[in-house]
Amino acid sequence: MDSAEVVVVGLGAFGSAALWRLAARGVNVIGIERQAIGHEFGSSHGSTRLFRVACMEHPGLTPIAQKSLELWTELGEQTGDTYVRQTGSLNVGTSSSRPVEGSLRAATEAGAKVAELSHHELRNRYPQYGLAESDVAVWDPAAGICYAEPTVRAHVAEAERLGARVFPHTMVTGIQFGTDGLIVRTPTVDFTAGQVVVCAGAWLGKLVPELPLTPRRTPMFWFEPKDPESVAFRLERFPAFIWEFADGRGLWGHGSGDDFLVKVGLDGAVQAAGFDPDNLDRYIHPQDDFGALADAISHAFPELDPQPVKVIPCMVTDSPDGQFLVGRCEDRLLIAGGDSGHGFKHCAGLGELLAQITTKEAPFTDASFIDPSRFGPVALTNPPPTAVRGARHARPSQGRRGS
Ligand SMILES: Cc1cc2nc3c(=O)[nH]c(=O)nc-3n(C[C@H](O)[C@H](O)[C@H](O)COP(=O)(O)OP(=O)(O)OC[C@H]3O[C@@H](n4cnc5c(N)ncnc54)[C@H](O)[C@@H]3O)c2cc1C
Repeated sequence: MDSAEVVVVGLGAFGSAALWRLAARGVNVIGIERQAIGHEFGSSHGSTRLFRVACMEHPGLTPIAQKSLELWTELGEQTGDTYVRQTGSLNVGTSSSRPVEGSLRAATEAGAKVAELSHHELRNRYPQYGLAESDVAVWDPAAGICYAEPTVRAHVAEAERLGARVFPHTMVTGIQFGTDGLIVRTPTVDFTAGQVVVCAGAWLGKLVPELPLTPRRTPMFWFEPKDPESVAFRLERFPAFIWEFADGRGLWGHGSGDDFLVKVGLDGAVQAAGFDPDNLDRYIHPQDDFGALADAISHAFPELDPQPVKVIPCMVTDSPDGQFLVGRCEDRLLIAGGDSGHGFKHCAGLGELLAQITTKEAPFTDASFIDPSRFGPVALTNPPPTAVRGARHARPSQGRRGS
């Protein structure tokens, strides 16, 4: 039996950030991850994610993205790496579309600076777009892209430097009440913890039952321009965007850089939903997976080759209202999940929030809109026992990385 003040289960985007922010406070914390750190079997793989500040999904997200930016900037100053590249982003659609109206509302409520672009300005500045006459845009200058796998690895490395202990390749098989805290069970060793933060992504519902979460298969796609010499789709000229068409379909993406390709996805594309994440279909089915996306791209960006050059299956975990479930559920249990496809940019901010809730500090922002209890009480199914029964007493091997 090993023990810590806090155990974080799952070290993807959310869990790695929580581990880092807890370690930064000097908390005795252990992180457990069933795969390697920064792997491609969950939701946080690939090189990049869109980083937006004026978030159309909810005005309350803007302070969380701003906190991520602040923390990643500090981390970058220390490590010499870049975690966010602020090239700005475009929220495109009709004036009443979600990207335009939602990002304006979020910016106004949070006092974030944005600029409105008329149809004429948009067309002149971004000739790559096959715009409809009604399209306008909101320019979010603090936005850009953030780096996915490298950031997860950096969170964990920094947490370890600050004293966190990390157990990769270790699967948590259950979380139960013990006499002095929670027991986190794995096949090799059990851990006792004063508090447990479960950040298991698409697997969250397997460890904490009865959560209203639905994993969705969502491949990631990368593209190249038809003309290999073209620079029109480089990130500096083709920054991050979200675009809602008049017919309700939507595209999101960003341009290429020295070590990443043009990335474009179809909003809300559902290939499969509600499956067991252990059985994610990792094969690519051209027609089902990118038939509709290729069709949308050929209209939206006529100079981009609509056939992807790279595809990797990924998962989004949807909640009923499209917002995360982050916060305390029971006395000793916290969860962070339900990313709903827009969580990466917020992960450092959410990690800070989880650390504040765990250590009973005042949270940096009002997070009631992502409180897990908005869908009803969340609980572990086993009641607190009077004595710990059945805990295994295996010895953890030294140097868990790669074991
Ligand atoms: C195609 C696509 C595009 C996206 N684009 C954007 C974007 O542009 N901008 C943006 O902000 N967000 C975006 N997202 C969303 C973002 O990637 C997710 O919100 C984020 O990665 C979710 O992180 P997570 O920590 O919840 O999940 P994960 O990264 O999957 O982490 C969960 C971890 O828990 C581990 N785990 C599970 N069960 C156990 C267990 N029993 N024991 C131990 N470990 C366990 C898993 O192995 C995994 O490492 C996108 C997502 C997809 C799929």
